[in-house]
Amino acid sequence: MTDEIKQEKYKELMNYWKKSFALGSALTLFSWDTETLAPQDAVDMTSQILGSLSEQAQKASTDPNIGVLLNELGDGEGLSEAQRADIKLIRKEYEDLALIPTEEYVDYTMLQSRAVVIWTKAKKTDSYEAFLPTLKELIAYKKKFAGYKQKDGMSIYDTMLNDFEEGFTTKELDKFFAQLKDTIVPLLKRVVEKNDSIDTEFISRTYPADKQEALSRFFAAYIGFDFNRGVLAQSEHPFTSGFHNHDVRITDHFYENKLDSAIFSALHEGGHGIYEQDIPDELTMTPSGCSMSMGIHESQSRFYENMVGRSEHFWKPLYARLKEAFQKQLEDVSVDKFVRAINKAEPSLIRTESDELTYCLHIMIRYELEKRFIDGDLKPERLADEWRALYKEYLGVEPQTLSEGILQDIHWAQGAFGYFPSYAIGNAIGAQIYHQMRKDLDFDTLLEEERLDVIHEYLRTRVHVYGASKSARDILKELTGEDFNPAYYTEYLKEKYERLYEL
Ligand code: ZN
Repeated sequence: MTDEIKQEKYKELMNYWKKSFALGSALTLFSWDTETLAPQDAVDMTSQILGSLSEQAQKASTDPNIGVLLNELGDGEGLSEAQRADIKLIRKEYEDLALIPTEEYVDYTMLQSRAVVIWTKAKKTDSYEAFLPTLKELIAYKKKFAGYKQKDGMSIYDTMLNDFEEGFTTKELDKFFAQLKDTIVPLLKRVVEKNDSIDTEFISRTYPADKQEALSRFFAAYIGFDFNRGVLAQSEHPFTSGFHNHDVRITDHFYENKLDSAIFSALHEGGHGIYEQDIPDELTMTPSGCSMSMGIHESQSRFYENMVGRSEHFWKPLYARLKEAFQKQLEDVSVDKFVRAINKAEPSLIRTESDELTYCLHIMIRYELEKRFIDGDLKPERLADEWRALYKEYLGVEPQTLSEGILQDIHWAQGAFGYFPSYAIGNAIGAQIYHQMRKDLDFDTLLEEERLDVIHEYLRTRVHVYGASKSARDILKELTGEDFNPAYYTEYLKEKYERLYEL
C-alpha cells in the first residue's frame, strides 16, 4: 500500500471515528446538563434519550468497517506519529467494545443510568441494602466485560486498571501505596499532635455565595483558564467537561459556611480546564486530543490546587483581594494565619473535602477494597463493614452514616471500578513534575510576581500540547528524565508538613 492510499484509508477511518465522537459529545453534553441546569424531574424521560443515543454510539464505534480499515492500516507505518497514535487509540476502543455482545452492552448502559438514580436515593435514605443488589449487578457485568479482553498474566482488576491508566498494574500499585502508607501514617500522627496550634475557626464564618462565585471565576482566570473558550457553572460536585479546545466547562459549588471549598475547587477544575484548552487545534476532536491519561489530567488539577494554590507565595499578592471581598469576616486574619489554615491536615471521612496529606489514604482504602471484591473473595455484602474498619485503621475515624461512608462517591454507581487509583497516581505525577519545574524555574518568585503565565507556558509546551499522542510515562520521561517515581511525592509531603508544623 502506498503512503497516499494509507492517507486515504486513515481519512476514511477518521470519518467513522468522527461519527462516534459526535454521539459521545451529545452524551457528555446531556450529562453536563443533568448535573448543572436540567430540572430534577427530567431524569426518567431523559434517560430514554440517553439509552437510544448510547446504543447508536456503541454501533458507531463498533462498525465492522472500522475493523476492516484497522486491519488494512496495521500499526500505521508510513503515517505521522500523531496519526499512528490515533489508530492505536481507535483500535483499543474498537476491540474493547467489539468483544462485548451488543445486547449485553445495551443492558449494561441501561443498568448504569438506573444505578446512579438508585445510588442517589440509597445515599439519601442511608440504606446500603437499597444499593447492594445494583452494585452486585454492576460488578458482575464489569467483571464479565474485563474477562472478554483479559490478557495473559493480568488479573481482572489489572485489566480494569488499564482502562483508566495504561501500564499500571496491582503489582506496581501495591508497592506505590505501601510507600505512601509508610510515609503518611506516621507523619499524620505527628501532625495531629500539633494541630491545636492551627486555628481554622474563621473558615466557617459566613461568606455569601455570590461573592464566592465571583472569586472562583477570578481565580480560574488568574491561573490561565480562558473564559472566551470556557464557562463555569454550579453543580453539587465540581467537575470538568471538555468538548474541544474551544469549549471547556468547569463547575464549582458554594457553601456559605466554608470559605476554602469553592476556591480550591476552582483551582482544581481550572487546572483540568487549562489542560483541555491547551490541546492544539490540530489534535482537538481527534482521538489523540481526547483520551488523555487520567493520571496526567489529575496531576494538572492537583498541581494548581496544591502546589500553586496552597503556597504562601501564591497568596502574598492575592490575599488583599480576598480580604477586600470579605472585609468583616477576615478582619482579624493575617495572611500567615490564612495559609496555615488552608494547609491544616487532619483525619476526616469525606474524600473530596480531605486535605492534601490524608487524601491518598482515602484512595488507598478504595483501592484495597476494589482489589479484594474484584480479584479476591470479599463479598459485596461485607463492603460497608470493611469500609468502616479500614477508615478506623488508617485514619482513626469511623463513619456514622453511609453518605459519609461507603455511599459518598458516585464512581462505583457508574461502574467505574479501577478508577480511584488514578487520583493517587496523578498526585505523584504532579509532584514529580513540580520537582523538575522548581529546578527549571524560580517558582516561588514567579508566584509572588503574579507571573502565572510562565508556569502555564511551561506546562503547555511540555505536557499539554501532546494530548494523548504520548503516554503518561513518556511525557514524564521526557520532562524529568526519569520514569514514574513516587519518591518525589512522599518527599514533597514530608518536607512540606515538617516545615509547616515545625516537626
Ligand atoms: Zn480532578
